Amino acid sequence: MEDYLIRIMAKETGVRGLACVTTGLANEAAERHGTTSTTTAVLERALTSGILLGALLKVGQRIAVRFEANGPVGKALVEADAYGRVSGYLVNPQVDLPLVADRPNIVDALGEIGLLTVVKDLKLKELAEGVVPLQTSTFDGDLTYYLNQSEQTPSLVVMGEVLDENGRLQSAGGVLIQAMPPNDIGIIRQFIERMQELPPLEALFAEGKTPEEILALLFAGIEYTELEKRPLRFQCTCSRERSEKALINLGRADLQNLLETEGEAVVDCHFCHERYTFDEEDLRLILVGMD
Ligand code: ZN
Repeated sequence: MEDYLIRIMAKETGVRGLACVTTGLANEAAERHGTTSTTTAVLERALTSGILLGALLKVGQRIAVRFEANGPVGKALVEADAYGRVSGYLVNPQVDLPLVADRPNIVDALGEIGLLTVVKDLKLKELAEGVVPLQTSTFDGDLTYYLNQSEQTPSLVVMGEVLDENGRLQSAGGVLIQAMPPNDIGIIRQFIERMQELPPLEALFAEGKTPEEILALLFAGIEYTELEKRPLRFQCTCSRERSEKALINLGRADLQNLLETEGEAVVDCHFCHERYTFDEEDLRLILVGMD
């Protein structure tokens, strides 16, 4: 199954639903960052967070999501846009913890005391920032809390994943249910109950259920229309041009120093692990361009 996101709207009920499968993009990220089976699940949930929040943006807007806590992973940082593109990384992807009840130990890897920060570039003068303390350290519970508290939109987020014996994701994704104004949390409680009646999301994924089928289960008996099906992918915003700008920002003296001591400069993108190498000649050209 390719990665994609489905968006539905139950107009009469005043609820929208999003469901996504992020298996491929999360496995690509896991490969790029050399994650363990524990941190594959952690990074996947961080990326799924970016995808779901990104899907709430308008065209041209961007979002940065940071989960920072006292666990060994340290921080999870993700960037996403409104077009289903996401990239991200963990400060320490080498953390590997034993399974708990056959599930990756996401909570202890991230840590229970910390903050979720969401920064939105809405193409306005100022960036919009929301910060909430972590509640569950499972990403979905924290996103739920963020949307309810910081954005004051009655919401429910649930994530799930299935890993194979090699620690690769077999399936992964998430669901986001949101009440549209003037509806309140009451309507969301119905979905929470319905969610609890269903098998956990990872079990639905393991059964091979698609995002459409999962939303159909959640919205059973409710009239809704499918608004959009959007492909998702791991894609970073870094480029050789941006890396060159970063080098220029170091300033003439530092760049000259790099040239003399290293004979080259290597810019390593945190988000995707792409390496941009500037050799002696490249550096001389950059320095000439700075005159
Ligand atoms: Zn990159």
